[in-house]
Amino acid sequence: MKTNGSPIASGVAELVGCPPFRVPFQAKAWTPNNAIPAPIAEEWGAGLPHTMKTKRSPLAFGLALLGTVLCAAAAAPESLPIPPAREILAKLHPGHPRLLASESDFARLKERVATDPQLKEWHARLRAEGRRLLDQPVSKYEIPDGLRLLSTSRRVLDRQQTLGLLHRLEGDRRYVERAWQELEAAVRFPDWNPRHFLDTAEMTHAFAIGYDWLYDQWTEAQRAVLRQAIVERGLKLGVACHRGGTTYGWWTRSEHNWNQVCNGGIGMGALALADVEPELAGEFLAAALKSIQLPMRRFAPDGAWDEGPGYWNYATSYNVIFLAALETALGTDFGLSHIPGFAEAGMFPIYITGPLGKTFNYADGGEGAIRAPQMFWLARRFDRPAYAAYERKVASADPLDLLWFMPGGSGKADLPLDRYFREAEVVTFRSAWEDRDALFVGFKAGDNKANHSNLDLGSFVLDALGVRWVADLGADNYNLPGYFGGQRWTYYRLRAEGHNTVILNPGPEPDQDPKGAARIAKYEARSDRAIAIADLTPAYAQQARQAKRGIAVLGRRQVLVQDEIAADKPMEVWWFLHTPAEIQVAEDGRSAILMRDGRRLRAQLLSPDGARLTVMDARPLPTSPQPEQQARNEGIRKLAIHVTDAKDLRLAVLLVPLPEGERAAEPPPGLTPLSDW
Ligand SMILES: [Zn+2]
Repeated sequence: MKTNGSPIASGVAELVGCPPFRVPFQAKAWTPNNAIPAPIAEEWGAGLPHTMKTKRSPLAFGLALLGTVLCAAAAAPESLPIPPAREILAKLHPGHPRLLASESDFARLKERVATDPQLKEWHARLRAEGRRLLDQPVSKYEIPDGLRLLSTSRRVLDRQQTLGLLHRLEGDRRYVERAWQELEAAVRFPDWNPRHFLDTAEMTHAFAIGYDWLYDQWTEAQRAVLRQAIVERGLKLGVACHRGGTTYGWWTRSEHNWNQVCNGGIGMGALALADVEPELAGEFLAAALKSIQLPMRRFAPDGAWDEGPGYWNYATSYNVIFLAALETALGTDFGLSHIPGFAEAGMFPIYITGPLGKTFNYADGGEGAIRAPQMFWLARRFDRPAYAAYERKVASADPLDLLWFMPGGSGKADLPLDRYFREAEVVTFRSAWEDRDALFVGFKAGDNKANHSNLDLGSFVLDALGVRWVADLGADNYNLPGYFGGQRWTYYRLRAEGHNTVILNPGPEPDQDPKGAARIAKYEARSDRAIAIADLTPAYAQQARQAKRGIAVLGRRQVLVQDEIAADKPMEVWWFLHTPAEIQVAEDGRSAILMRDGRRLRAQLLSPDGARLTVMDARPLPTSPQPEQQARNEGIRKLAIHVTDAKDLRLAVLLVPLPEGERAAEPPPGLTPLSDW
């Protein structure tokens, strides 16, 4: 398949240094979790707590405005020049298949599957799934939560990819017949649920793949049915979204996963029909190629994603599918893949994943592994063998794993152990790659206004000795009342108190500023001492003059968490650490042993004098909102410190994994102010 050689459009260089285009729109999608996510999503209503993204001081904001004027072309959606529709369509490769793979790409894959042991194994697994599908009932029109058809759309898509690829590899007509049954059933649906447009986009994608990959198997009458469905249910609505005036087209101006999924999904329909529906397809593609630049700029500079690891996956998946199909169908992605930061995107799952395969699941994320066939595509496109090595280890034999498979590459051995992802303001530290017992810390500042954010500035996770000792509880149920609206910050899992950070002067209000945006003020990674300091003052500006948290990984064996908080009036302060471990606090309250799976970790309270460690349930404080129906977090405890009447507080806790047979613990390090770190 064609994966290389896209020209760097001349406009790209002008993007560098210009402020990202900010849009006062936020929405969310899909629950980011394990291999097969329960797909859920919803639009924001108006007047929600986290909307505009602006993490700037007034001066910086003024400069940004000036920059916006100077970079007017780059700040507008069309900053990377996109040719008019007729020029786009003039590049079309006639014939099918042309989405993601050509006839010869499939033929080559068939040969590789016969010889490469990895591909052979994945093919066997895919075939088992295909055989199982033959007897499964077709998908039904089901909106189980009253809003989303998305799990149906995703199932239809997955089946079209699986059956289509298996037919390409094996030529068995039963796959074709089964694929038709699935499509025919979805043709009869009353609609593809455009009010929740992800559902429409993913279903259009499913039909595009079914139509294109099995084109030579369909009768002309079948093709006509599929074409009409794509046009009437998908493409026309996508064009209407870009023209404006629909109630569900806001995603065309959004900067997050919805943009990539909706443009990418409908874009697949447009590319499938570009020869027979040139006006609709051309108009959609020209608009989509401009619009998708908005979220793509959010990868800069280091490839991270502020919606958390699960949405990194959803966003990059559709982003790559669209770019890959543009290349196979038109021979170019019009320079989109060279938007700054996009080449780095594959670094994010590598670093955000700890030694147990669990992610640092900030924002609305589950901690399950990121399985991402697009890592193969990114690996080949940007010559990053480590991306391919990552996916080879976690892949679940997705059809796109087979299609984009890349062998070779040494994995992570040459990569530095630590990384700071700027703009997302996320840091990860570890003691080793490829060692299940390694020490791993994920730590973040970041922007509480980010789509899908939790109030988790300053929070961290910690793995060591094969155990996740310090955990993020992840998202709660998306269908809870006001979860994406006015009640968002009443839910424990989304509040700061549900994270591993500090709470100042607790009460019913949001316990960090929902508009707060915090930077990693210092980051230094040496082998004996790796540190990051988050300036959390913007998160607690109502309560404190200054709030900083430093995390230091000492000798790659111990983790020091040090908070420095100063206020004009005495504060009440809570410090929380959520853990699935059992906790035994020493009699003097100055240390505790965490135990899990026969392993131990010691927590030692180094400062302030007089404070004590205690154990609490993972439940709201008495002064916090107590919404019914929220997750009960059974099996999770928290280690807590409570300090009252503090004006100038240094809180320091040392976390030391205790390997079996380790001799008596070494004395704790002396404390120094964060300003001396
Ligand atoms: Zn969280």
